[in-house]
Amino acid sequence: MDKLYSPATIRQIKDRHNFRLTKSLGQNFLTDGNIVDKIVESAAAGPTDLIIEIGPGIGVLTAAAAAAAGQVVAVEIDRNLIPVLAETLKEYDNVEIINRDILKTDLTEVIGNYEKINGAERTGVKIIGNLPYYITTPIIMKILEDGVKADSLTIMLQKEVADRILAGPGTKIYGALSVAVQYYCTVSLVAKVPKEVFVPQPKVDSAVIRLDLRKEKPVELISEEAFFATVRGGFGQRRKTLLNSLTGVMGRTKEEIGEALKQAGIDPRRRAETLSIQEFADLANAIAGRSGVSAEGN
Ligand code: SAM
Repeated sequence: MDKLYSPATIRQIKDRHNFRLTKSLGQNFLTDGNIVDKIVESAAAGPTDLIIEIGPGIGVLTAAAAAAAGQVVAVEIDRNLIPVLAETLKEYDNVEIINRDILKTDLTEVIGNYEKINGAERTGVKIIGNLPYYITTPIIMKILEDGVKADSLTIMLQKEVADRILAGPGTKIYGALSVAVQYYCTVSLVAKVPKEVFVPQPKVDSAVIRLDLRKEKPVELISEEAFFATVRGGFGQRRKTLLNSLTGVMGRTKEEIGEALKQAGIDPRRRAETLSIQEFADLANAIAGRSGVSAEGN
């Protein structure tokens, strides 16, 4: 058989299994072996590590992951792909395929099933995937908000979303997604990927990024709820000054927001897109402090 990622193989598999690609499931299969290798190498998994893959498709990344890691668990929603994966991955005995929606999968439970790998204590947990584009952000935010105990996510997504995740203050694309992901993770670009290396070809280019989950949060917060309310409020009306965009957040009046801004040492005429994560934290703490929101210990 040709390489699994070659367009000819994908065609043969489709014909043999009478399989049709489902556009609504974001099925754009990767056909570039270098990118496959880059994703798996960047995940840096060894013989006692667990790789969790989101959306294995016909198994191109899965096979490379199985060769590198002690154990692979791949979560695929499309049941028509399950017999395909059984065939393409038959030479690996360290792959579990779960036929489920990733948004309804308890990854903490999955991780709990593999405390030991190859008879030894499990070391790392690495999440990888060429993500279905229609739910990229919900997948990332669910994993981060659920507090899944993984070390990293090495993921392919639309370049435009990757750029927003990687953006820093003072840029037009810096927003609530950048702050939320960077609160949980350090972020880096692994590779830019042109749209021509997918079958079928999507409309936009992609990128591979790596998110390393922080062991400790980068800022001290009185309340995470106040922090995210401040971030959402600020970016919800990003063209307004902070004084105006934040009025009403956590039920605060304009005067109270003015006082909180003063306490945090932030000019009320600034806009959300200029604030660093530390400044958002200072401001959220000032806002939360006025209500007596109880400390969460983080
Ligand atoms: N990993 C393969 C590759 O790189 O060629 C396929 C990637 S394709 C962009 C996305 C995959 O995610 C498809 O196989 C699709 O069926 C699957 N998928 C879509 N929605 C999903 C969901 N909610 N849960 C799990 N898998 C999903």
